[in-house]
Amino acid sequence: MVLNELGQKISNALTLINNAETIDEKVLDACLKEITTALLQADVNVKLVMNLRTNVKTRANNADKGAGLNKRKIIEKAVVDELSSMLSSGSATDEKQLVDLKKGKPNVVMFVGLQGAGKTTTCTKYGAFYKKKGFKPALVCADTFRAGAFDQLKQNATKMQIPFYGSYTETDPAVIAAKGVDEFKKASHDLIIVDTSGRHKQEESLFEEMRQVATQTKPDLIIFVMDGSIGQAAHDQAKAFRDTVEVGAVIMTKMDGHAKGGGALSAVAATQSPIIFIGTGEHMDEFERFEAKAFVGRLLGRGDWRGFVDKIQEAVPDDESKDELMDTLSKGNFTMRILYEQLANVQKMGSVGQIMSMIPGLSNSGIFDKGKEKESAARIKKFMTMMDSMTNKELDSPDPKLWQQESRIMRIARGAGVHPNYVGELIGEYMRIRTMIVGSGKGKGKQNMLQQMG
Ligand code: GDP
Repeated sequence: MVLNELGQKISNALTLINNAETIDEKVLDACLKEITTALLQADVNVKLVMNLRTNVKTRANNADKGAGLNKRKIIEKAVVDELSSMLSSGSATDEKQLVDLKKGKPNVVMFVGLQGAGKTTTCTKYGAFYKKKGFKPALVCADTFRAGAFDQLKQNATKMQIPFYGSYTETDPAVIAAKGVDEFKKASHDLIIVDTSGRHKQEESLFEEMRQVATQTKPDLIIFVMDGSIGQAAHDQAKAFRDTVEVGAVIMTKMDGHAKGGGALSAVAATQSPIIFIGTGEHMDEFERFEAKAFVGRLLGRGDWRGFVDKIQEAVPDDESKDELMDTLSKGNFTMRILYEQLANVQKMGSVGQIMSMIPGLSNSGIFDKGKEKESAARIKKFMTMMDSMTNKELDSPDPKLWQQESRIMRIARGAGVHPNYVGELIGEYMRIRTMIVGSGKGKGKQNMLQQMG
């Protein structure tokens, strides 16, 4: 996945700082050069990249003046903050307000974007997301340009049991939109989603149609849907939409594919609107809240325990186990049993890729291979079989020295009926993730955890 490449390159650049004995101008410049090159290669807008460079430098130079401050950490934090703010555009509350729709009033949300961006699919995903939260959504198909658009929306809506409105005979999208919104308002729907037409490329007729639909329906929010993999074109495309209608938020689709990441960064800057959700697959449940900090964390391979734990909670609604896990992790304990329980949860939830990418270290580990979900699932099963042959002491001990004993490895291999190499591989992965979470030195655990949770 190309997005991972960007993260990997930035991570590598940051290790230049971590490995240097002293951090002087030369080291900082070398690190920033690698970061800016990586961002430019990922199609991030040049101006944004230059801003990031200047801001990180300023913060690093200010750090020189503060006594006793850890310059490494300051630079690393500055890079993460700058990348996150590129993605947030505005304050976190703005973003939260855009997502936390008010109940008890009809929220009209209009979707715009180019054909093929994923608008129709995303409209239904969006409706289903709020339906789960207790809203009464409805879908209006104002796409008269593409033959079959109404049928597609109907099919998706029926699957998710969301009422829909459209017409095979009316040719004016603004008329359909107005009628649909009106009808659903009368029926007390509190979320009315209007899907509009797209075109293969930006053109005046598309923009005129969008304006008319917006005038007729007076949407509370206009969401620009963008294909996450379009790269450099993202900036101009997003800007053209923003210049025509009042885009308030962005949804990036196809983040499961070859998204370079730079498109996301550029679209936010061009629309001055935050990304609120991302599409991570063709299925209706492959849709998630976008969290800039967590996204950057994942991008840099640091994982997102908070998001992961939230996800677990969605599937296993048990507050106690969630709090317990956060508590245990923040104390720097990462035992084999915790890994076992998390792998079991991943299995229970089905969507291996989505979940695994949230776990620190696992996204790039030997356990999980993006794009090879079946193989990853089989691997998880194998690892769990080996863990089933472990004693309670082995599962619960936070002491990594335990795993230096060959006799243990041989016994587990015999018990699970596998070659000892496989047990070695499991232990290797466990140790790697453990180091990421707990740290290798004394007292680093909590600090690492807090950093990872942002
Ligand atoms: P529209 O023309 O903008 O309405 O786009 P559609 O909703 O018809 O989507 C175009 C194609 O993209 C369809 O094949 C969708 O299944 C696919 N698609 C939409 N969102 C995603 C996503 O997040 N990931 C992937 N892999 N495919 C998606």
